[in-house]
Order: sequence, then C-alpha cells, then structure tokens
Amino acid sequence: MISRRHVIIPTVILSFLTIAPAAQQATKGGINSIQQEPLKEWLTYIASDELQGRATYSEGLGLAAGYIASHLAQWGVKPAGDNGTYLQIVKVLGVRTTSRATVTVEVNGQSRTFNDGEGITFPKNMGGKQTVVADQVQFAGYGLTLPSGTHDDYAKLNPKGKAIVWLGPSGPKTSETGLFRLLNAAARSRAAIEKGAIATIGPPGGAGFGGRGRGGAAPAPTPTPPATPGAAPAPPGGGRGRGGVVDDGDFTTVQRLDTKVPPAVSAEDEFFEHLFSGSDLKYADLKQKAANQEPLPPFALEGVKITFNVDADYAIVRTRLTHNVVGIVEGSDPKLKDTYVAYGAHYDHTGYREGVAGAGRGGRGGQAPANPEDRINNGADDDGSGTVAIMSIARAFAQGPRPKRSLLFVWHAGEENGLLGSRYLADYPVVPIDRIVAQLNMDMVGRNRNDDPKQSNTVLVVGSDRISTELHNINEDANASLPKPMTLDYGMNDPADTESIYTRSDHYSYAAKGIPIIFYFTGLHPDYHAPSDSVDKIIFDKVQRVAQLAYETGRRVANLDRAPVRDNKGPRVGKTVTGKIK
Ligand SMILES: [Zn+2]
Repeated sequence: MISRRHVIIPTVILSFLTIAPAAQQATKGGINSIQQEPLKEWLTYIASDELQGRATYSEGLGLAAGYIASHLAQWGVKPAGDNGTYLQIVKVLGVRTTSRATVTVEVNGQSRTFNDGEGITFPKNMGGKQTVVADQVQFAGYGLTLPSGTHDDYAKLNPKGKAIVWLGPSGPKTSETGLFRLLNAAARSRAAIEKGAIATIGPPGGAGFGGRGRGGAAPAPTPTPPATPGAAPAPPGGGRGRGGVVDDGDFTTVQRLDTKVPPAVSAEDEFFEHLFSGSDLKYADLKQKAANQEPLPPFALEGVKITFNVDADYAIVRTRLTHNVVGIVEGSDPKLKDTYVAYGAHYDHTGYREGVAGAGRGGRGGQAPANPEDRINNGADDDGSGTVAIMSIARAFAQGPRPKRSLLFVWHAGEENGLLGSRYLADYPVVPIDRIVAQLNMDMVGRNRNDDPKQSNTVLVVGSDRISTELHNINEDANASLPKPMTLDYGMNDPADTESIYTRSDHYSYAAKGIPIIFYFTGLHPDYHAPSDSVDKIIFDKVQRVAQLAYETGRRVANLDRAPVRDNKGPRVGKTVTGKIK
C-alpha cells in the first residue's frame, strides 16, 4: 500500500505549478506590484475551508505549504529548505529529563547541597551542562517593575553578574490589574536575566516554570498572538493520545538541548531558610511580609555563594515533523548578498473544532458563532494576511529591482503551538544566523483594531526601536516616503503595556538571538481565533499598504552598506512618544 506522503505532497505541488491565474501574469515586480487583487486571490485559497484551518501536522497545512512553494518556484525565488526544496523540516521533540542538577549554598562558610527535586527545582528543560557560580547574591523583593512606575524593585540595584532572589508569588499590593503576564515566575525570571542576572531563584507556584525560552531561562508567557479572555488555548504542542498512549515526555521543544541558559530555579522553605540564615531579616519574616503583600525592600546577601550545577540527560521519546517554507531572493552586491533581510509570517492556524458543532465559542467575547455548523477556523487575518503579504513582497523582489543584500522569506509553521517554526529556524538556521541583519514579521495585518473604521490607515508597530534605533528610523522614513503614509501606532511597544506583545509572535525568536526586528500588526478584533476570521472581512487595500511599507523598509535596509547598528536601547516609543528617535 502506498504511503500518504507519496500521494499527497507531490500531487499538490505539481497541480499548483500548472496554475497561472490572471493576477499573476502581468507584473514586473517592485513596490507597485504589491496590489490587493493578487493578495485577495491567494488568501481566498489559503483561508478556504478546503485547508481546514491549517493546523500544524494537518493535511490543510501541507496544502498551504505546497501552494506557497509552487508560487515561489513560478516567481524564481530560490529554494532555501532541505535538499534543494522550499521546505525545511521542523522537528518537534517530546523529551524526558533525567536530572542530576544541584544547587550548593554557602552561607558564612556553612555549605549545603540541594538536589533537584529536594528543596530546589530546576526546569525540566534546563539547557546544556554547566556550572554557574554566583558570589554576589541579591534579594530583589518581589522582582517586579510595575508598568505604572509605582513599584520598581530594580530602581536601585544592578542585577548584572548576580544571582537574583525574589519572593511573593502574588506580588505587592497594587490597584493595577491585568498583571498576570508580569507576575508569573517565568516573566520575573526573564526580567532579571534581561538585566544581566546570571541565575534566578523564586518561590514555587508561579506559572511558567518547567521550560525555557530563547531569551533566557524561562519560556515566553504565552507564545501565541494576542490572547484574549475566553480564547481557546492552543495545545502546548502536545498530543497525548486519546487513551494517554502517546508519551510526550516532560516537555516539548524544537530548540537545541545543549544551549547553556542561565539557571532559573524554584525553591522551597528549607532552601530559603538556609539562604537567608546569615541575614538580618530572616526568611520567616520575609515570607510573612510577602504573604501580606507588604513592602519587601531589596538587600544584598553578604557572605553567600551559590553554585548551580546544571546537569541533565535528555531522552527524546517522541518526534513529530512539520515544515517551514523558505525561499531566498539573491541580492545584487557580490559581497553584501551573503547577508540577509528576513521576512516572516506564520502560515499555520488553529485548525477546526472536532467537538459538537455550535458548542464552541464564537469570537473573542465568547458569543455564539453566527453559523453553529461552521467549525473551521479559517485564519484569514491570523495569519493568512501576513502569509500573502510576504508572498507579494517575495514576488516584488524576485521580479523587480534587486537590492544589495539578499532577502530571506520564511513562512513559519506551528506559531499557534508556541512559535515552533521560528524557534527551530533560529536554532537551526538555513543561512548563518549572524548574517541576518533584520527580521520583519507580519502577523494579523488585515483588519482594523476592534473593527474601528478610524483605524483604517493605522498599523501597530512593535519592537522596532528595541535593538536598533537605526532600524526604527528607517521604518519611519520608509513610511514617510509612501504616497499615502500609514499612521504608525507604537502603543503596544510601550513598556507600560501589559500584553507583552513583543514576546508573542515569531519575531521574538529572532530578537532573542540579538537580531533587530519589526513586528507589524493591525490589532485584535472579535473574530480572533474564531471561524468568523474569514476572507470576506479582510481589508485588502490595507494589507497592500502594510506590505508596501514592509517592502520599502526591507529594501532600504537591504541597500545599507553596513548592517543597522545594534544599540540595544530598549523600548522608547510607546503610547505617547512616537516618530523618529534622535
Ligand atoms: Zn493566532
């Protein structure tokens, strides 16, 4: 009996190769080839019921991959995947951990060693073997910076080179709401590590322990596009079989297991009692204050040395395969063409509802779906819009004037399952990762935020200033050069924005490698992750304008004689500060 892969994939690719619809014929590339008619034609297929919501590991996603690849071939975009194809295999691993990790704490010469699971707990995915010695240990109170500026544990301390200890899973008393993304243990650990901490220790119970993300020791809090109240959570890439027969191991990952990451452990009372035994303020008092959400002033733990011995064996107990679709348009400069401007979007979506029709949620507010029989999440905006936007950009560069640098196009798989495709590509890049000078990501670029018609010329821009001020200014200049410049809204880049959008789509996998990024986004709406995210609601002239902006920004970056300067100054534009940065 012939296997499925022999039947489906080649047939699909060949059948699309023969298609030459009218909208794809007369174009000479360049920015003016980015037009709404072809965007609509492509998205009508990508978001059709035939593709069944493009869930990762589904036939629908395979059809989408074949469709994109066949167009790339037609336009003369070079394959950049495995074995001369447009497909890069993404391996999604279920891993079982055997830990030998320990933490040794010396307080005024008194030494105690805690084994993983006995007073101290390492994440199951703790990274590669290493020993980290911290002879500066800093208690950082709640380890929190609140967006309002009313509470900042880091105001008077520098975590650089230190082990950071924090307490109080619930955080301090505050009237601020919506802080769950900041209060979880992973976010507090990441905040310390981003400020230069070499290890973190917190209490148990905070959400988020048990894995690591690329930026540090902890995973991104919600590695999908904007979560909303009532949104159906994507499975964490896991597929325990119906009867529990499939073993996913302790965690699922696409990343390298040997990367050394700063230890981020949770600790029990016994550990903290020893740790604080030489301090003026004893653990029992601190724990009580934390429970009461009272002020917890930071202090240095004098005479304390902590040795983290990270040591685990990882057994791969499950492997699942999906694909990134990747292509390259070569640059014109003999030297600079070895460097790349990368464009990204995710072509997967959340699939379809398998359960009883009509029982699911409708849109964001949980209202009943307009058509209870409609079980397919078409993902026209999320992220069909970005998928066709970067198709139009790939065609514009392939058939139009070539900039000096090369352009790398990646349609990521598994974004909805936790940035799988981009995390994989960042660890197993198809071109050397240090030759990617910028990454421009488009995820949901086809609607108006909350369906507000006043947003019709507005695009949310996130992350543009964080790693490279120069990249931010290039995007501003590119926009100003367009016949009808868009309104660039930086509100979701604001450090006071609690949605943490910066960590929640594929660009973050690149940013975590130090690559300057821009995330283009047109905002949430009531059809987010619902069957009603359909092609008839897409505003194609807006997709066209966002794609033209991204094309122009990428073109300018690709023509620079050197890579955009990485000054790493963090978020500066936001709710009130906009425009170019001096
Ligand atoms: Zn989504």
